[in-house]
Amino acid sequence: EGERPVLTPANFAAMMGQAEPSNGRPELSVIIPVFNEAENLPTLHGRLTRALVNLGMEYEIVLVDDGSQDESPEILRRMEAEDQRIVIVEFARNFGHQVAISAGLEHSRGRAVCIMDADLQDPPEVLHLFLAKWREGWDVVYAVRTERKEWWGKRLAYAAFYRLLQRVANIEIPLDAGDFCVMDRKVVDMLVRMPERNRFVRGIRSWVGFKQIGVPYERQARHAGVPKYTFSKLIYLALDGLVSFSHMPLRVITVLGFTVSFLSFLVALFYVIKKLTIGVGVAGFTTLVVSIFFLAGIQLMTIGVIGEYIGRISDEVKHRPLYVARRVTRR
Ligand code: UDP
Ligand code: MG
Repeated sequence: EGERPVLTPANFAAMMGQAEPSNGRPELSVIIPVFNEAENLPTLHGRLTRALVNLGMEYEIVLVDDGSQDESPEILRRMEAEDQRIVIVEFARNFGHQVAISAGLEHSRGRAVCIMDADLQDPPEVLHLFLAKWREGWDVVYAVRTERKEWWGKRLAYAAFYRLLQRVANIEIPLDAGDFCVMDRKVVDMLVRMPERNRFVRGIRSWVGFKQIGVPYERQARHAGVPKYTFSKLIYLALDGLVSFSHMPLRVITVLGFTVSFLSFLVALFYVIKKLTIGVGVAGFTTLVVSIFFLAGIQLMTIGVIGEYIGRISDEVKHRPLYVARRVTRR
């Protein structure tokens, strides 16, 4: 399969217009990002295959190896050799979960496309519910977690983040919706053609619009292994979501700046009047030091927030490819 043409504003419109004919394509693609999931892959393959065969649809499974350091690549190659319906995209290094999903979308051909995790937290057995909705004409069917089987601190952090995002984002990102979903081909084509490097999949998925519906499901505990999302990766994901879908942080610092300036003005006024009426000069060295540190802190924070945006602008303008694949299944 040939390389995708480089996306420029000039050919964006042209690409939007031309959908490839869907003849000879599977009806369903399942996309699974894999990062060090060797213990989960055999069970995943078995359970997923059983669920998909029960669906009675023609399918393909697109597994994206996100630079795994364990035996995942070997297991994936074995699966690929045994099973015609498996497509492997091997990244040259770890590019991250959201980028792996994007690569999977790019290599998928199904008329309906499902995204799920490799650790069986998203049970393949509920897929038929999603596909029923898709057949009813919904373009995006996303899973909404009714219950998380994670420790309370993580659950609290997730709940807080989704509620914050809901309030500040310029788009509606449904509460507690993760990446687990089924999407129609037209949505996938749109997502693949979105030019941004910063991939917060559940955000851009919601941004495209079309007919979207949430289906509740019970998020399972990890089948095996530890979460591959480290704390810092989760923080970056949250930052990506906030910064790329809202200008709220910038507004907050603007408001903060005005507030602090206004208060300083009042304080200055107070001391000037005191000096003129009572005639006492400013004596407070402590006050001075505290306010200098306070303002320096605010200024650094402000620069940091602006920096978050500038850093992302810089990432976008470099126009680097989203990922580097060292190997893709030929078909
Ligand atoms: N993953 C990935 N690249 C990464 C981190 C994770 O492809 O850098 C995959 C991982 O293999 C799994 C999915 O993303 O299939 C979700 O990861 P994880 O289970 O660690 O996240 P959580 O379920 O805790 O949100
Ligand atoms: Mg998981």
